[in-house]
Amino acid sequence: MSSTIDPSKSRAYLVGGGIASLATAAYLIRDGRLPGQAISVFEESDQTGGSLDAHGNPEQGYVMRGGRMFDEEAYTCTFDLLSFIPALNDPGKTVKDEFFEFNETFRSHSRSRLVENGRKVDLSSHGFTTRDRIDLIELMMRSEDSLGTRRIDECFQAAFFDTNFWFMWCTTFAFQPWHSAVEFKRYMLRFIQEFPRIETLAGVRRTPYNQYDSIVRPLVIWLTSQGVRFEMNSQVTNLGFRKTGEETTVECIFYTRNGAQLEAAVDANDCVFVTLGSMTADSSLGSMTSAAQLSCTQASGSWALWKTIAAGRPEFGKPSVFADHIEQSL
Ligand SMILES: Cc1cc2nc3c(=O)[nH]c(=O)nc-3n(C[C@H](O)[C@H](O)[C@H](O)COP(=O)(O)OP(=O)(O)OC[C@H]3O[C@@H](n4cnc5c(N)ncnc54)[C@H](O)[C@@H]3O)c2cc1C
Repeated sequence: MSSTIDPSKSRAYLVGGGIASLATAAYLIRDGRLPGQAISVFEESDQTGGSLDAHGNPEQGYVMRGGRMFDEEAYTCTFDLLSFIPALNDPGKTVKDEFFEFNETFRSHSRSRLVENGRKVDLSSHGFTTRDRIDLIELMMRSEDSLGTRRIDECFQAAFFDTNFWFMWCTTFAFQPWHSAVEFKRYMLRFIQEFPRIETLAGVRRTPYNQYDSIVRPLVIWLTSQGVRFEMNSQVTNLGFRKTGEETTVECIFYTRNGAQLEAAVDANDCVFVTLGSMTADSSLGSMTSAAQLSCTQASGSWALWKTIAAGRPEFGKPSVFADHIEQSL
């Protein structure tokens, strides 16, 4: 695996069929000038999209494990990606054109963002005290290192969690008081432009269809038309490394498909991109009458590959500050 790509000699191997790999493949073709035929995507399931999925049927119902709220200011990279992918319904348009046309016609504008005891809540104020404002500013200015593993409720007074602002913010971005303060800070900085319009959700954009059909399907169809190979039902179980001087590079990808143990040799000119981990790994589904069960089996390839690589390559160190938490839960 070299640090530069030679379009005439290089191949690219992408582990995981989520949006990270799909976007990587698209940019390798557009900006890296790599022919699509030189790109292989290994996906352990039989579906692309990863956490950005959708499936089902009229009899058993439909499932989307994740849902994104597209914000025009924050999603510049996503819109750049969609600006060169043809729309499925009208190949003369891009997915980005289709998206913006839809949002011109159907604008988000909630007239009743919070309801209490059957009545619309007056949202002319966020409900902050001076102390809340100071705590918010402090959180936004502090470094991630200094926040460390603190929870959100360790950074605010209890009354903050009864403000209009908290109810609107936590229901927009799915936060709980016990979630990470660092993650909360990141969202505050990334979505600060939502402050003046959080009570109407006017900044939130939607895709015309479910997000899988609107984004993943056109992307996969375009990548396939470029020659990208999707190795479905292929779980990558380990990577073989070679060390040359100071450089450690991947020389082999080990994977299983339909019970068979397979290997793909990686040349010095090739590139390997691995999505190590997934926020929907080991997720389970509830129903209208039963809660989802907590699964601690770590059955998915995300966990297995992370554990195998971490165990075999201690010199790589821990992927992030959160690795400690993951390790404790293993
Ligand atoms: C409920 C919910 C709400 C969300 N809301 C937002 C939002 O508003 N805005 C936003 O930007 N993001 C949001 N996200 C996050 C966003 O969906 C994810 O960050 C993104 O989809 C992750 O893409 P990925 O390709 O990195 O990983 P994933 O989509 O997780 O893909 C990883 C893929 O790799 C495969 N895989 C794993 N291990 C192996 C292996 N060893 N071999 C082969 N294949 C393997 C998995 O099967 C999976 O398909 C939300 C997610 C959820 C669940």
